[in-house]
Amino acid sequence: MHAALATRGFRTELRDLLMRAVERGLDAGGLAALGAAHDRSDWVAAAQVLAEYDEVTALSRPGSYDPASILGAAADLLESDPETGERLTSGLRLIVVDDAQELTPAAARLLQVVRRPHIELVLIGDPDVAVQTFRGADPAILGADHARFGDGPTITLATSYRQPQVLREVSARVTRRIGALAGGAHRGLDDVPDGGRAEVRLLRATSQEAALIAAELRAAHLLGGMAWSEMAVIVRGQGRTSTLRRVLMAAGVPVAVPSTEVPIRDEVAVRPLLALLEVALNVATGRPDPIDAQTAVDAVLSPIGGADAVGLRRLRRALRRDELESGGGRTSDELLAVGLVSPNTLGMLGPEGAPARRVAGAIAAGVKAARTVDGPDGAGTSRFAPGVTAESVLWALWDATRLGESWRRVALGGGSPGARADRHLDAVVALFDAAAKYVDRLPQMGPRGFLEHLRGQDVAGDTLVARAPSHDTVSLLTPAGAAGRQWRFVVIAGVQEGVWPDLRLRGSLLGSERLVDVITGRGQSLRAAQAAVRYDETRLFLVAVSRASERLLVTAVRSDEEQPSAYLDIVDPPDESDAGDELRPFSEVPRQMTLTGLVAELRREVVVGATASDRHTAAGQLARLAAARVAGADPCSWWALTALSDDRPLRGEGVSVSVSPSRIESYGDCSLRWLLSACGGDGPSVGAANIGTLIHDIAADLGDADEAAMRAEVDLRWGRLGLPDGWLSRRQRSEAQTMVARLARYFEESAAGGWERIGVELDLRVELGRAVLKGRVDRLERDQSGCLRVVDLKTGSGKPTRGELLRNAQLGAYQTAVEHGAFAGHGTVSAGAALLQVGKAAGVRTTLQQQGPLSADNDPKWAELLVTDTAEGMAGSSFTATVGPVCTFCAVRSSCPIQPEGRVI
Ligand code: SF4
Repeated sequence: MHAALATRGFRTELRDLLMRAVERGLDAGGLAALGAAHDRSDWVAAAQVLAEYDEVTALSRPGSYDPASILGAAADLLESDPETGERLTSGLRLIVVDDAQELTPAAARLLQVVRRPHIELVLIGDPDVAVQTFRGADPAILGADHARFGDGPTITLATSYRQPQVLREVSARVTRRIGALAGGAHRGLDDVPDGGRAEVRLLRATSQEAALIAAELRAAHLLGGMAWSEMAVIVRGQGRTSTLRRVLMAAGVPVAVPSTEVPIRDEVAVRPLLALLEVALNVATGRPDPIDAQTAVDAVLSPIGGADAVGLRRLRRALRRDELESGGGRTSDELLAVGLVSPNTLGMLGPEGAPARRVAGAIAAGVKAARTVDGPDGAGTSRFAPGVTAESVLWALWDATRLGESWRRVALGGGSPGARADRHLDAVVALFDAAAKYVDRLPQMGPRGFLEHLRGQDVAGDTLVARAPSHDTVSLLTPAGAAGRQWRFVVIAGVQEGVWPDLRLRGSLLGSERLVDVITGRGQSLRAAQAAVRYDETRLFLVAVSRASERLLVTAVRSDEEQPSAYLDIVDPPDESDAGDELRPFSEVPRQMTLTGLVAELRREVVVGATASDRHTAAGQLARLAAARVAGADPCSWWALTALSDDRPLRGEGVSVSVSPSRIESYGDCSLRWLLSACGGDGPSVGAANIGTLIHDIAADLGDADEAAMRAEVDLRWGRLGLPDGWLSRRQRSEAQTMVARLARYFEESAAGGWERIGVELDLRVELGRAVLKGRVDRLERDQSGCLRVVDLKTGSGKPTRGELLRNAQLGAYQTAVEHGAFAGHGTVSAGAALLQVGKAAGVRTTLQQQGPLSADNDPKWAELLVTDTAEGMAGSSFTATVGPVCTFCAVRSSCPIQPEGRVI
């Protein structure tokens, strides 16, 4: 059990056990005694927790009670102090308990204590729709046990005021699966209005289910004129809520978000503020390592930093580049953490450093506000200056983020981004409210105390601060939240096998149900316990289906991972004539009834409409929408129709064009990719941050060294790559060692073959008309007859085929450069060129892929022509996106109009 202690599930189990004990008047001693008598050491241990909990509650707020014990405490008081009981009851004539099926034993006892002959007691409820059974509610109190409150008539209500005929029939079918608690007399109704609509829809995936629900809700609102507040979506647990909420909001369905759903500390807007508050306090009090790498990365990616994954990557690259240039070897995350708390270091970075500077600015403001004075011992320890509170430091931090104004603007803009910004602002206001209360209540506690206090809150706190209004929204809730309410249209989503009914036994770890059995003297078999759970689940389902007053829609998913629940067949029973093995058919998702979807469909119709009349009608509708200023409807905003801003060629007539041998092939593959990459689309260069560059550097710096020397050099320089320790880094280092071993072997083979090394990393520059062929060769060699060979070092895993090698653009360009005198001091006759594969593309032995001399080719001018043609193309005014294998790893894909990711352009 030790491993379970820190889990949320364990805390729920423990809370349930303690609540059941407290509700039934058991104190710590009683629980421990029961544990000893029934050989339950976990109950004895829980009794210690209960004792400690009682002491802490009594100490922290004298006179305060937790909800589980308050009813019992009230009953005790009234029993032990008749005078108080008299004062309370003397003015009472009538007590009405609504939803009496939710009565707990503790509440029932209080009613019994308060009950007097002159007070009428009316219990109203339906034992079939109890939703709080897992919190101790006992519908049997209303059902069979109401006689404990005294004699009185039972009146069965026979008119259905909410549910019309069709919906009533669904409820009746569900009710039949719940054990009748009061003889079931209340289940038959005489007066039920006609009408109602109940449907079941089966989808292929959760996303489809959410899309269908959004479409149905929008259709009901737009076509049926139903207010958003008259609709609700009910789900069994929180698991599906977030997907549903996201999809509904994205589809323009306003969804009410329960204000107390998550603790403040877990709100997206609050988490980074708390993290930075801690960092600021650490810096202010001089703690070593005030921020760890993960916190730094999270802060940069948070709304405060505002970076996305690509932005973070650029920032990391920029940090590493500067570090390498200054000879250091720290990882980018370490550099980021240091940079955030010493902001001057970030000033050197370009625009890619902006997210880090924003975070650093906020931390600096927090540090400034968290003034410290020397501690009482005066020996280097410091404490916060008077007046420094969690509220004051948080405010300085928050103010420096400048998020308030931008979120306010977005919130006022409405739509789903507006709703998100609203929620963020609400969360921040709630944070400041909590900080203000904390400071008022415990003025002597410093800002760190507040951090601990908030982080210790596991459940959402109640707050009275003003929140963005959430009227006229669709309610998204669980059956317990829906109890006692009604809507015209109710959707029950995610009715899956294993989810609803959830037949796992409750309290099975610490035995809270068993405790109730022991206290009440009721022995329950496993089978009876399972039946009780099944009834509880069915009651929850009944609550959900009985909330609708006009229309009910039940949805589920059937896929490889999920199967629909048997409840679907209760709502919509299969046809009697079916053989029983017919699967329920899938439903199709209708078009989203959003303006964006409509505009998109009309625009498509205008272009590809089947007839001229269709196209004309679509154009007319678009014109109406454009007149109403609907985004995207006016052709002025269509990118495809905008004129080119500049159609001049990239280089003027006669102006020379630089062509790099290594870029010719890239240009040939896709000229758009070449253009965007050449304009910075690849992001800043990484410097010596990859293994390929490391191998090139070693080859250039060490000359034709032997294997041992080069292996040692790999070890020496490995730290510069900044790779984190681990198996991946170890494997990469071993690959690098293999590469230099292949390189060393090549040096020997080359020398044995009569090749002389002329140089490495040699610059070349030749002019071919307006083309200026510029670049650098990895290695230049000369044979005994004085002919030159350029060798290009490759460390990757791909290599050209023999056929591709014949027309390899890079090698051809090198040969052309040699023949046009790029290395005139060493010779002008090309002996060919070669790719030296030392990476995974290498064979068992070193793979030297050779291209024969141009002079021996049947078209000796092909390479020169390729260079000059490429130069003309690079100087031109249009660049074509050419789909091919390179698209898979294209760095500018998100800006490519031919790819879905780039289509927005
Ligand atoms: Fe060219 Fe493909 Fe990149 Fe588009 S994604 S730019 S077509 S390589």
